[in-house]
Amino acid sequence: MQTISTLDTLRGTLDRLRQSGPVAFVPTMGALHEGHLTLVREAARAAAHVVVSIFVNPMQFGPNEDLDAYPRQMEQDSRMLSDEGVAVLWNPGVETVYPAGFATTISVKGVSEGFCGASRPGHFDGVATVVAKLFNHVQPDMAFFGEKDWQQLAVIRRMARDLDLARPHVDRIIGVPTVRESDGLAMSSRNRYLDPAQRRAAVALPDAMKGALAAIRSGTPVTAALAALRAHVLGAGFASIDYAELADAQSLDVLSRRPEARPARLLVAARLGTTRLIDNMGLE
Ligand code: AMP
Repeated sequence: MQTISTLDTLRGTLDRLRQSGPVAFVPTMGALHEGHLTLVREAARAAAHVVVSIFVNPMQFGPNEDLDAYPRQMEQDSRMLSDEGVAVLWNPGVETVYPAGFATTISVKGVSEGFCGASRPGHFDGVATVVAKLFNHVQPDMAFFGEKDWQQLAVIRRMARDLDLARPHVDRIIGVPTVRESDGLAMSSRNRYLDPAQRRAAVALPDAMKGALAAIRSGTPVTAALAALRAHVLGAGFASIDYAELADAQSLDVLSRRPEARPARLLVAARLGTTRLIDNMGLE
């Protein structure tokens, strides 16, 4: 595996790699876990070469968020990726991604406005801008993202469609189902912020979500199922709930009733102590 942090070297290396087959890209912020590695394995199944980026993107963190505290473990991450057969680790510095005078923001309306977009103003502008830049750096034939960040996936697909990002074409933005711990908690780099008691309490989030989906499937009104979910999560010790909604899986329009024909998604963000956890599950 080649670890690269300058654009010229990246471009030269990728020009050579591309001659022997397609390139798949997995953007990350590091602090890797099995969720990230699952994306890498899916990418390796689909393409000759896998490029992974590690870049903790300051632009997607709000002023009072965890940018400085965000876990960084380059050596361990690098070993994990090398063991997976990754061809290139793209690890640009902040000055490479945002050189002095940087003044451009990509803002995706609609899908980025509710949910995490409402509780984290500016977050998806930061995500869209950095992903557009990383796509331009790597020019991959396909890119892999986790369904764990369902709204992020919708924002990136919308951006790829709207900006005619030929590489990767929107059809080649591939969502990978959420990888979970054995008790059901979605894997996340932020789970390491949880102390042991909080980690035990955290399972209430997926449990309450499964309960709400089962209730909706068996005919409980959506509002009653969501009220029970909130009570379950808060009763388990979560400090607050940013949102808990059933939404159209594609448009992310909030639904007050179970849709008849279209897929729906339950999306939740809640705080346990100072740690913000997000999760989502399909109704079908
Ligand atoms: P992050 O490093 O948290 O920005 O995540 C990098 C990529 O890994 C994103 O596409 C995430 O959606 C994906 N990812 C994070 N956690 C998981 C998980 N538990 N299962 C599947 N994909 C994940």
